[in-house]
Amino acid sequence: MILGSHVGFKEQQLLGSLNEALEYDANTFMFYTGAPQNTLRRSINKVYTDKAKEVMKENNINIDNVICHAPYIINLANKEKNWDFSINFLKQEISRCDEMGIKYIVVHPGNALKEDRQVALNNIIDAVNIVLDTQNKCTILLETMAGKGSELACTLDEVKYLIDGINNKDRIGVCLDTCHLNDSGIDISKFDDYLDTFDKKIGLKYIQCVHLNDSKNELGSHKDRHENIGFGTIGFDNLINVLNNPRLRDIPFILETPYYMDKPPYKREIESLKTGVRVTEQEDLVK
Ligand code: FE
Ligand code: FE
Ligand code: ZN
Repeated sequence: MILGSHVGFKEQQLLGSLNEALEYDANTFMFYTGAPQNTLRRSINKVYTDKAKEVMKENNINIDNVICHAPYIINLANKEKNWDFSINFLKQEISRCDEMGIKYIVVHPGNALKEDRQVALNNIIDAVNIVLDTQNKCTILLETMAGKGSELACTLDEVKYLIDGINNKDRIGVCLDTCHLNDSGIDISKFDDYLDTFDKKIGLKYIQCVHLNDSKNELGSHKDRHENIGFGTIGFDNLINVLNNPRLRDIPFILETPYYMDKPPYKREIESLKTGVRVTEQEDLVK
């Protein structure tokens, strides 16, 4: 089982993220290379990166399972709004990943805004094809979205359309987000049916990461508000079944559940997912 949470990337960059993950007894983690809402980035510090790789080895953490998440301000779907900026910024994020040896970057495919959805999907394909060049290495994982506002990639057909249009199939994959799936109308209690359809339409090998989150909202609500494991509408048993699904073995599962009373719940959430013993009071998550 490869299980961790999103963590910070502040003072000591990758080493700081790793140390936070180790506090949660995680064997992987996901980080943003800076604030997800802005483009201020410090250059990658080689000393911290090298030390992080050393500590990963000591703790049996495979760097190939460590995930970067691109900032939300990137929108590849609308050529009128920040399209060139988004392409350039994603390229820069990928080179930061390459510098650290990080293999996967999760990207929200984009928001159509006032653009026609079909045109917007084509814009995403164009952008990804520009971003993936011979100078860089990192694989882009397109995240499945809830369909909030004008978000794209909230149906399997849209995800399939994107994957089909991207030329470099070796460097494109999908990150499933259970909260987003639920909110987009996928019943997680029938997760195997979803995987069957995914396999038929796209191919399971494209699923290279899962964001394991409960949801605050009902099936099909198109909201996207994450909840702590077992305290939302998806529920503990359904999330455990996703985590233990034999068809998703050997890929990283990342918690992006909210802090509770300003404290990270990840140590207890990871423990309860590993043991299968659920935490019944939400405040116990942060004790
Ligand atoms: Fe995301
Ligand atoms: Fe997510
Ligand atoms: Zn979300």
